[in-house]
Amino acid sequence: MSESSLSKVLAEVFGYTSFREGQLQVIEAVMQQRDALVLMPTGGGKSLCYQLPALVGEGLTVVISPLISLMQDQVEALQAMGIAAAALNNGISPEASQLISTQLNQHQIRLLYVSPERALQPYFMRQLQQWPVRLIAIDEAHCISQWGHDFRPEYGQLGQLREALPQVPFMALTATADAATEADIISRLKLHDPVVYKGSFDRPNIRYVVEEKYKPFKQVTDYIKRQRGASGIVYCGSRKKVEELAEKLSREGIRAAGYHAGMEHDWRQDVLRRFVRDDLDVVVATVAFGMGINKPNVRFVVHFDVPRSVEGYYQETGRAGRDGLAAEALLLYDPGDVAWIKSVIFEHPDEERRRIELHKFAAMQALGEAQTCRRLVLLNYFNEHRNEPCGNCDICLDPPRQYDGTVDAQKVLSCIYRVGQRYGVTHIIDVLRGSKSQRLVELGHDKLSTFGIGADQSHEYWLGVVRQLIHRGYVVQNIQQYSVLQLTEAARPILRGEIALQLAQPRINLAVSKPRVAD
Ligand code: ADP
Ligand code: ZN
Repeated sequence: MSESSLSKVLAEVFGYTSFREGQLQVIEAVMQQRDALVLMPTGGGKSLCYQLPALVGEGLTVVISPLISLMQDQVEALQAMGIAAAALNNGISPEASQLISTQLNQHQIRLLYVSPERALQPYFMRQLQQWPVRLIAIDEAHCISQWGHDFRPEYGQLGQLREALPQVPFMALTATADAATEADIISRLKLHDPVVYKGSFDRPNIRYVVEEKYKPFKQVTDYIKRQRGASGIVYCGSRKKVEELAEKLSREGIRAAGYHAGMEHDWRQDVLRRFVRDDLDVVVATVAFGMGINKPNVRFVVHFDVPRSVEGYYQETGRAGRDGLAAEALLLYDPGDVAWIKSVIFEHPDEERRRIELHKFAAMQALGEAQTCRRLVLLNYFNEHRNEPCGNCDICLDPPRQYDGTVDAQKVLSCIYRVGQRYGVTHIIDVLRGSKSQRLVELGHDKLSTFGIGADQSHEYWLGVVRQLIHRGYVVQNIQQYSVLQLTEAARPILRGEIALQLAQPRINLAVSKPRVAD
């Protein structure tokens, strides 16, 4: 089929004037009965890659999709365009399911959406072998990869489908894939010499911002208040935090609700509905919230905790700005979380798994700690290499400034030394700033020579300095011993004044660090 006839279908059925980047290439691969792997960012127009070919020529196109709500949306949209589409999943009554089966047997359906569980049922697979299937499209194909951030066991078994239907072309589609996931998809689905289309993963309208996390609740509340009722999602690392934060935000008068997989189905549906209708401004959620949310006007995504992988971060931040208008992704970054997450990964019994997860997390850490354009770091992770800084991330907009931090470093290091290398960050900063807390006085730390030598700077300022010293290897945080701070060998020459040290000016949000009246 020629390009012009495909364009005609595009215009007549879908009402679009031209193909998006990559669509034609993928559609032509299907027409030639080739396997395909489609990597396109969210909103890139993946669905059309299998919907359009389904309408030209004979046969049935089967789409495997992990989410019932998403299937339902697509089927309804297709039916509204007069296309014979149907969905089979556990949300459908036996009668409706029977009716669809009859229609399928009579070859009356063009596009069939099925859940992976359904697709893998032996009975269903036998039926598939009877029907004139011309393409199997697997949406959200990254769920196949055990190393991916969103592994689903049923997806892992989809290779069986390939064995049952060796002659049928397969198309795998996803909005995230690093090289490892990409290879995993190809091998598990046994894609044969696939046409691989990889679109740019850049989302130029999303501004990436990383802020040091020091007073997370206040930071996130102030941030949301500055958004003046715009829609946003706040991702947290645990269900408990989701509930706490949602409640705190509500108490601050923000229209917020929590969402995680442990909540009642009806509640979750209700949250989703209210959010989509703009009756709710902010959803505080675990990563369980998001896949398949089709809300174009999400203006911001906040990560309250650092995600475990760049893919996850990309996927979650990608839910902002689907309408193409300016949007922001804010990551609250705490090196303390890093140590904690690493220790959790270390507990995993499988060594290979540990290795891969640590590797993935290291990339996320590098993104959080980047001193160069965040977008370049992000795209680089997806093997999209560029040189020009983006001009739309915190680093580009406000490049980190260096200053001679030798004296600051000496203050911190000597303070750690004076308290016997037996106290954590907060205590060290309290001593530096001359806090008169009872505990400090009881310990006699108000008598130390380092007491109050940093009183001219805020807590957050010193936190920034301490973190850099940890980061650069002058100080270690002993995880075995209540995270107490200890000096390394490298600290000596600084303490002795033998070498100078450049530090980055702490990037502290002014709205948060304004001097408080009572401190
Ligand atoms: P993805 O699945 O990649 O996230 P979708 O398939 O949902 O993206 O498409 C995103 C949006 O782009 C949809 O609203 C779709 O109708 C629209 N779209 C897709 N292809 C085209 C095209 N060729 N021209 C104009 N709009 C398109
Ligand atoms: Zn940039």
